[in-house]
Amino acid sequence: MFHIVPVCAFIDNYIWVIRDQHHAAVVDPGDAAPVLAFLRRENLKLVAILNTHHHNDHVGGNAALLREFSVPVYGPGNESIPTVTHCLKEGDSIQLAEFSLGFSVLDIPGHTAGHIAYYGANLLFCGDTLFACGCGRLFEGTALQMYTSLQKLAKLPDATSVYCGHEYTLANIHFAKEVEPGNQVLIELKVSAEKQRELNFPTLPSTIAMEKSCNPFLRCSQPEVIHNASNYLGKPLADPVSVFAAIRDWKNNF
Ligand code: ZN
Ligand code: FE
Repeated sequence: MFHIVPVCAFIDNYIWVIRDQHHAAVVDPGDAAPVLAFLRRENLKLVAILNTHHHNDHVGGNAALLREFSVPVYGPGNESIPTVTHCLKEGDSIQLAEFSLGFSVLDIPGHTAGHIAYYGANLLFCGDTLFACGCGRLFEGTALQMYTSLQKLAKLPDATSVYCGHEYTLANIHFAKEVEPGNQVLIELKVSAEKQRELNFPTLPSTIAMEKSCNPFLRCSQPEVIHNASNYLGKPLADPVSVFAAIRDWKNNF
């Protein structure tokens, strides 16, 4: 049986490690040093690297890990990551035999043009697309692409555990309360997230059910979200993609 643990990197990145007693697979190792230290301390052998998108804080450790372990590197086929050995796209699946664990691949462009997610066994590794109570910036994609990608993730089962690439939860809640001050879930979430952070615990994983109830970027059809997004832009907004674009822009300037 495997379990999942975070290795912290940089200021707020999480490198998620899928591990059992002897093996480990890592998702988005932006930095090799903390991963290698963890593997040594726990006496684990690396068996795979999974990348969600090409940003350096997610792939920067690939090369150094490959110098110590010869392992497959899974990554998005529509992005150029020199160390990737297995190029993936929507509909592909991968098997991590050591953990009897399979993931299917979802294309979720928006943050980057070729961003992918890994979904299986009620786990979702979604990089910088869906965050707890927030979403990634639109560096290479359009609002429509990101909205569509987030909707795709929102359709996964409620119980899906959501493993995001960064600890952004408190700042995201702060913004979400501006967008939807009447949402009671946000009040409770703020209390529990603050407690976790005071203890230096991750606020992750989240769940799809939780995100649907608190994440403003998944709630673009809620009257209060529409109302406040319209206020922000100074004109009435009708369709959910325009609401999404407005609150994404609002968050950038928040
Ligand atoms: Zn990124
Ligand atoms: Fe990132």
